[in-house]
Amino acid sequence: MRRQPSKALPKPKNSMATLLKIWAYLDTHRRLLIAILFLMIVSSATGLLIPYLLGRSIDHFIDGKTSSELIRLILILGGVYLLQTVSNLLQSYFMIGISQETVFTMRKDLFGKLHRLPISYFAKRRHGEMMSRLTNDIENVSQTLSGSFIQIFSSLLTFAGMLVLMLWLSPLLTLVTLCIIPLMVFGMKWITARTGKSFKDQQKNLGDLNGYVEETLSGHLVVKTFAREPKVMADFREKNERLRSSAYWAQTYSGFIPKLMNVLNNLSFAVIAGVGGMLALRDVISIGVIVTFAEYARQFTRPLNDLANQFNTFLSAVAGAERVFEVLEETEEDLDETEAGDMRVVSGTIEFTNVSFAYDQDGKTLENISFRAAPGETIALVGPTGAGKTTIVQLLTRFYNPGAGVIAIDGRDIREIKRQSLRQHMGFVLQDSFLFQGSIRDNIRYGKLEATDEEVERAAEQANAHSFIMKMTHGYDTLLNQDGSGISQGQKQLLSIAKAILADPPILILDEATSSIDTVTEVRIQEALSRLMEGRTSIVIAHRLNTIRSADQILVLEDGKIIERGSHDGLLEQKGFYHKLFQSQFRHSVEATANLHR
Ligand code: ADP
Repeated sequence: MRRQPSKALPKPKNSMATLLKIWAYLDTHRRLLIAILFLMIVSSATGLLIPYLLGRSIDHFIDGKTSSELIRLILILGGVYLLQTVSNLLQSYFMIGISQETVFTMRKDLFGKLHRLPISYFAKRRHGEMMSRLTNDIENVSQTLSGSFIQIFSSLLTFAGMLVLMLWLSPLLTLVTLCIIPLMVFGMKWITARTGKSFKDQQKNLGDLNGYVEETLSGHLVVKTFAREPKVMADFREKNERLRSSAYWAQTYSGFIPKLMNVLNNLSFAVIAGVGGMLALRDVISIGVIVTFAEYARQFTRPLNDLANQFNTFLSAVAGAERVFEVLEETEEDLDETEAGDMRVVSGTIEFTNVSFAYDQDGKTLENISFRAAPGETIALVGPTGAGKTTIVQLLTRFYNPGAGVIAIDGRDIREIKRQSLRQHMGFVLQDSFLFQGSIRDNIRYGKLEATDEEVERAAEQANAHSFIMKMTHGYDTLLNQDGSGISQGQKQLLSIAKAILADPPILILDEATSSIDTVTEVRIQEALSRLMEGRTSIVIAHRLNTIRSADQILVLEDGKIIERGSHDGLLEQKGFYHKLFQSQFRHSVEATANLHR
């Protein structure tokens, strides 16, 4: 398929270095690669031999030599065709094998790497970008390895071989042919440059139009409310017209290409036949040589075009590979300290002692944080956005290490505990409760992979999720989408509570949702949460008044410092920052709760 020159292909920054890295992957298949190289030489050589043998046969035929000689030539010709077909087939067969093996390993390496990268790496990047590296970029490498790679090499080989053979047969006719070739190449260049631009325009206008349609459809209500239909129609008409015009030219130019190619081909044939004929009349060359040359000239332009096309694809694949290697070379999450061990039975005391931390060199995100949560206690973190609540949780889970101070669980510095083991002792109910594509049952079971169906259902019952699950057509077997469409935000929360109940960890980390949830579900969540939190040490980034009220200790944070601490009533009495925060943020939720109890 011809590549539409619709988008600018990315150029690699350092092709040589990247090629060497790709080579490191390919090198494991060295023997096969040598075989492929050999096959390439065979198929290029046979490709060159065929026109030559054709010419020879014709000369024999004209000379009227013995027919046995002619038959011998035809048999050889048949054999050469067969050899060419077999070597072509074999080389793509081997190369596809190698390229699939290579990208298989690359994908494995990249996916493994993603799980060893620190969380800060992902904070800086969009998911789409990472996805594109794992899928598009690697696919690009695979396609190029199995396709362009062979083509580029065999085009170069064919090109060189053809030149040598032509010079050997007739230097004069070679000169003539070489004068025509640039003409053909420039002709092609001229037309592809034009088509390229109009295809680009077409693509851009199509994107514009699609974007516009999508936007107006999703903003349909707004369009109607503001009575903007006439404006929308006018805009659409204009974009539609632009697309029509660019598509018209793109199609017209691209329709020209094969015809122009034909004209150029016929022209070159005419010149070679004309000049060759005159030379043949003077007995400088034989008729067969003319046939050979005409065939070469026809084939000549193909490798040249292939080369130009394939080279672009090749460059874009190298650029893709470069992006893949960039990820592979990122620094990984600090390794667990060599002496780090597994976490043993945990009663759940959490203690921060003078912990300070900064994301960047300069600045301070957390300063001198100290607090202690006894087993089973709940600590509520409150404070304005950006105060450092999430950061405290990230330090506790060892996504980052504190710059100063010590975080201990059951009196043991968490730096001495393996990350996995540490996190296995923690349950998370976060704002963005993540759902996998799969059944509700499997999503809950993610908390404890070996749980039986009964255990899953018991956990769901305790999480107040059972009743809504049973109302769904397929109950626990209802399939969920990755984006969780089909179930509400509140129901998602209930599912993640069920997951945590099933996992039964001694320590809980909660990040309460800020988005409003209907009051009935809200009460269900509250109930499920208090059941979940019972007997576990919990650190809660709290937004709900109820949670804060029932916390054993409230830490009020501002600008990375704990500015007040105590119980809800005690803090209100102080009439300090918490009092103000309460007045501004929780009034409405007090009213809502009051309404509910009315
Ligand atoms: P909260 O959870 O209280 O809203 P955070 O702990 O998320 O606050 O953020 C505390 C401060 O650290 C903010 O100023 C925020 O901009 C900064 N911060 C948070 N995450 C990062 C990060 N990954 N890199 C750099 N700065 C960050």
